Amino acid sequence: NGFVQLGLASELIAAVEDLGFTQPTAVQAQAIPRAMRQTDGASRFVDLMVSSQTGSGKTAAFLLPVLHTLLQRQAEAAAAEKVEYQRLVEEAAARGEAPPKRAKRKDPTNPRHFKPAVPGALVLCPTRELAQQVAHDAIDLVRHCRGLRIANVVGGMPYQLQIARLQNADLVVATPGRLLDLQRSMQIKLDQVKFLVVDEADRMLDLGFADDLAEINQLTIERQQTMMFSATFAPRIQQLAQRVMREPQRVTI
Ligand code: AMP
Repeated sequence: NGFVQLGLASELIAAVEDLGFTQPTAVQAQAIPRAMRQTDGASRFVDLMVSSQTGSGKTAAFLLPVLHTLLQRQAEAAAAEKVEYQRLVEEAAARGEAPPKRAKRKDPTNPRHFKPAVPGALVLCPTRELAQQVAHDAIDLVRHCRGLRIANVVGGMPYQLQIARLQNADLVVATPGRLLDLQRSMQIKLDQVKFLVVDEADRMLDLGFADDLAEINQLTIERQQTMMFSATFAPRIQQLAQRVMREPQRVTI
């Protein structure tokens, strides 16, 4: 399978195989390796500005590297938690006490336990239909990943249901207006978002989302990487790119 060479996690390769993808499309082959963490000493993520049409495979081109990195971060966090728990066990044993209990997980469906969601990654889409399609693709891609959760935030869906799904979400796929509604009502905090994708940036501007994008850009203070996908690199798209990205690499298909 041609996806193996891209260095993606085995859980994601398995999902891609389930979907019947055997070779990366052009945009996937170009964007995925660039979007993964660069190991050249600085070990940082580069920002990407990608020209791509619908049907090119662009959705998997941004979802796969983001999910790969979320999986890596999850594995690192689990390993750190294990080390910390082991330390507590040893400390307790040294005092002659019983080992401490692991913290119980709260019931995520009980509204009494709701607290603001703090996703690590955010995909912004111009329309509800596109956001639903992207969330659907993401759910297909995480079917072999234990504990990576996807939530969809769009206007016109039952509010309580969305809030319940948002709890513990790692990746949120949203339209900008509804996302900011939830942010203002403290259902979601954006300050832990490390990865931001702006899909169909040209349509985003056509639909009047420039101010919302500027606000989300300000709120995601811990951002490590931004990717923008657009059918064109018109001047207004380049202006937006300059505002939200640092020295973006261009990928033109
Ligand atoms: P998109 O451009 O993201 O809307 O994708 C267009 C269609 O191509 C979707 O139905 C995907 O499931 C499919 N697709 C994406 N990547 C591949 C691939 N590498 N091989 C075959 N089909 C793909």
